[in-house]
Amino acid sequence: MSETMQAAVWHGKEDVRIETVPVPPFPKAGWVKVEVCWCGICGSDLHEYMAGPIFIPTEAPHPLTGKQGSLILGHEFTGTVVEVGEGVSNVSIGDFVAPDACQHCGECVTCRSGRYNVCEKLAFTGLHNDGAFANYVNIPAELCYRLPSGVTPEAGSLIEPLATGFKAVREAGAVLGETVVVIGAGTIGLGTLMAAKAAGAGKVIVLEMSKARSAKAKECGADVVLNPAECDAVSEIKAMTNGSGADASFECVGNKLTGPLAVDVIRNAGRAVIVGIFEEPSSFNFFSLSGTDKRVIGTLAYTLDDFKGVSTLLATGQLKADAMITGQIELEDIVEKGFLELINNKDENIKIIVKP
Ligand SMILES: [Zn+2]
Ligand SMILES: [Zn+2]
Repeated sequence: MSETMQAAVWHGKEDVRIETVPVPPFPKAGWVKVEVCWCGICGSDLHEYMAGPIFIPTEAPHPLTGKQGSLILGHEFTGTVVEVGEGVSNVSIGDFVAPDACQHCGECVTCRSGRYNVCEKLAFTGLHNDGAFANYVNIPAELCYRLPSGVTPEAGSLIEPLATGFKAVREAGAVLGETVVVIGAGTIGLGTLMAAKAAGAGKVIVLEMSKARSAKAKECGADVVLNPAECDAVSEIKAMTNGSGADASFECVGNKLTGPLAVDVIRNAGRAVIVGIFEEPSSFNFFSLSGTDKRVIGTLAYTLDDFKGVSTLLATGQLKADAMITGQIELEDIVEKGFLELINNKDENIKIIVKP
């Protein structure tokens, strides 16, 4: 193994450089080294590029990883385990894996209850620790999910973002036969849409303003796509549901207007699941909850159970990753053909995956 490798290193806002860096050292106890096959560009990577630091710790070392300042981005990946640290028994050298990005402490109250995705010291691979836009990355062995046959390495790199939508649908409870609304048809919205269909949702209504993304939503199984800029989405949805509203909604945008909209589109006692990453507060009257029995549910990321579910549905074709991959590029082109392409041609792109 060579001593150095190429990596996409974040240094600051609009400053991601392809650099020659040392290969990570032999993994510590409980960790493994993975040779990266494909790694997708996430909306959060794009945010760090355009407006960072957002998650990347620059003021103080991260409490779990000790990382501060420049780091290697990338957390949506597949690869081969090439070295295993002491005490690792769940994976072996040669295993092809899709890793969960939620590095966690294992000790806090949420870790102990199995919700390590909201660990009090949560550290995302590639945002709070070095990530996978590189030839090699070291990660905790317990986060490795071995890819089943029937899932390609390319599709495998979409398990991570698809798992977010999969968990959102789990959080909504049974949607069998229900009418659900998905707000936004980006990567997370499309994943949520397909997961809701797989869970037996009777009718899925997608709200999306971009033409290209609306077409993708249709391709991914949406029954109805509405453009909220061209119609009154709430009254359209009520008209489709005997005047009541949808049974459940999923907010996958993170905009100050679409947050309250997720509550407005559901019926009394319905559920609104909030998945988007918000930059601004919304104005919201809580009487729309106390006057209706409506429930609002927050959800962040996923756990390995969701990886298992997503890969099973990928193997059976109920989730389709290929429809979401709009570009495959080399690591050296990540800024031009990756970040800038996603910024300048936002509507035409869903997921661009990178080959180190
Ligand atoms: Zn991501
Ligand atoms: Zn924890």
